[in-house]
This record gives sequence, structure tokens and C-alpha cells, in this order.
Amino acid sequence: MTKALVWVEHDGSAVKDATLSAVSAAAQLGEVTLLVAGAGVDGVAQAAARIAGVAKVVTADDASLAHALAENVAPLVAGLMADYDAFVAPATTTGKNVAPRVAALLDVMQISDILSVEGPKTFTRPIYAGNAIATVESGDAKLVITVRGTAFAKAAADGGSAAIETVGGAADAGTSSFVGSEIAKSERPELTSAKIIVSGGRALKDAETFAATIVPLADKLGAGVGASRAAVDAGYVPNDYQVGQTGKIVAPEVYIAVGISGAIQHLAGMKDSKTIIAINKDEDAPIFQVADIGLVGDLFTLVPELTGKL
Ligand code: FAD
Repeated sequence: MTKALVWVEHDGSAVKDATLSAVSAAAQLGEVTLLVAGAGVDGVAQAAARIAGVAKVVTADDASLAHALAENVAPLVAGLMADYDAFVAPATTTGKNVAPRVAALLDVMQISDILSVEGPKTFTRPIYAGNAIATVESGDAKLVITVRGTAFAKAAADGGSAAIETVGGAADAGTSSFVGSEIAKSERPELTSAKIIVSGGRALKDAETFAATIVPLADKLGAGVGASRAAVDAGYVPNDYQVGQTGKIVAPEVYIAVGISGAIQHLAGMKDSKTIIAINKDEDAPIFQVADIGLVGDLFTLVPELTGKL
């Protein structure tokens, strides 16, 4: 049976949702062990042990792991991989920083952004910005995999009672150091876990108009706020709002695209949403090809009207 080591993404106190999808993917491979790496991570380890379907949790608690610097996490993982067949990480910014380094240290190919597990070493993954799905089979002895969170149901955060073990081997690689971080704090749901997302595009004109038009609608719906790259590049919103090929991949219950044309790179990040609603004044805009509900008209009339009626 394949033994999979899943890297737990956390913020020092709670397990991030993306980990739960990675656990589901790993469970399709075989026995799941979670790796909680960090400094002062007892609470995270306890939470990880409660995730359903997990056989064991291993914790590496060391100051060098405090900020999940990939340069320090990757050698730790590579050392642990003697006991595992597969390393599995969520395809998040941090997961995508750690996994390739693990693959390099193990001298194997990384299998990125998997959508499904087809066999012990066979997976599907998107190519050409999601326009084609490739089935790939690894010939390597060890697997290093990143998991697209929207493609796998989240494992239940409660219900498990895995044993927790401590592992050594953590060390400061001395090649990077933590300088600081600016964490955007928001009352809104995180984009990748929001059930509803309202996204705005270039048509929103500027930051003030974006905030005055998109945010009240999102507030009414308890939705996350997203944006096209054009809106981000123009400075309407910060770049962690970006949805798409080079932004976040989302699949909420409802995605409302406002003044977004539907360029292929934007669709790559949201076309798996359950219901897509598009508001655009151009009836030929490509977004309408993926939309379940389309409103053709001026967003500056339609959005306030919609917000007012909710
Ligand atoms: P536009 O394409 O300019 O569309 C604006 C839309 O608003 C139009 O359809 C117009 O009809 C409509 N509109 C204008 N005024 C109104 C109004 N008053 N009422 C209603 N509708 C109105 N893009 C992303 O979004 N995410 C990515 O991750 C991403 N990655 C990329 C990666 C690469 C390598 C490249 C080359 C491009 C990438 N892009 C990405 C950019 C992408 O190609 C498009 O340029 C971008 O998505 C366009 O954004 P937009 O739809 O907001 O703007």
C-alpha cells in the first residue's frame, strides 16, 4: 500500500482548508500521514490528528520552521521520505514553493496540480491553462504531487483520532531568512473557500468605483471578492484578489463576474464554479459562453439594482 506524507499548511494555530483536499487526494493513494512543521505547533498537530482518514501525524517543531521557509521545510521532508512513497502538498502558493524543492532533492519529477487519482502512479492534470487534461504516469520510485483543491472534496476536519509522533531532522539551511510579512486581514471568506464570489473586471474603472460597486453586493451575499488580472494590474484591488491562471483557482457555488470579458486565462481560474452569473454590456463577451445566467447591460445600473433588491 502506498504510504503518503501530506504537508499540512497552517497559520501557526489552525489547519488551512487546502490541506483537507490534499488529504482526500492522498487517501486515494493509500495510508495518510500528516506532517505538521513549524514552531510551537502543538495546537495544529491536535487539529491535524482530528482530520478524518488520517493514520498518523508527525510533527517537526523547530524555530527554523517557524515561517514555513521552503528552504528549511524541503530538506526535512526529503529526509522523511525514506519512509514514504508519496509526498502530497496542496497546490497553494506555499505548497508550490515547498514541493518542487522536495522533488529536486529526491531527484524525481513533480506531478503538479492533479485533478484526479487514476491509479497508484497515474493522475490527471490540466495543461494549456485547463484547455486539455493530461493523464500522466510516473516512473519514479517516489511521488511528489501537488493537489488542485477544487478538484477534491475536503476531508472532514473532525472525526479522526490519529496518533501524534515527533520527528527530528529540522535545521536552518542558512540560505534564507524571514524578514516580515504583511497579512491582509479581512472579515470576508477566503477566496479559495468562499461559497459565493463576486469578481470585478477592468470595467470597474478605479479602486473607488470597484469598492462602491462590487463590495456592497458581496456584503449582501456574504461573498468573497475577486478580480480579473486587468483590475489587479490597474490597481483597483491587491493581487491576492486575482482569479485565473496566474491567480487563484476557485470553484464556489456561485461566481458572479461583473464587467469581466472572460479571457481564457480568467476562465482557467473559475470555470468549475457550480453556477456562473455574468454581467456584461457586450452580449458577445466570451464570459457568456460559460455563464449559466447572463445579464446583458450596464453594470453601473444592474449591480446597484441587484444589490438593492437583495
Ligand atoms: P477586459 O477584457 O478589458 O474586459 C472588460 C469587460 O467589461 C468587457 O467585456 C466589456 O464589455 C465589459 N464592460 C465594460 N464596461 C461595462 C459596463 N459599464 N457594464 C458592463 N460591462 C462592461 N486574467 C485574469 O483575469 N486572471 C489571470 O490569472 C490571468 N493570467 C494571465 C496570464 C497570462 C500569461 C496572460 C497573457 C494573461 C493573463 N490574464 C489573466 C489576462 C487576460 O488575458 C485578460 O487580459 C484579462 O482577464 C482581462 O480582464 P477583464 O475581463 O477585466 O478586462
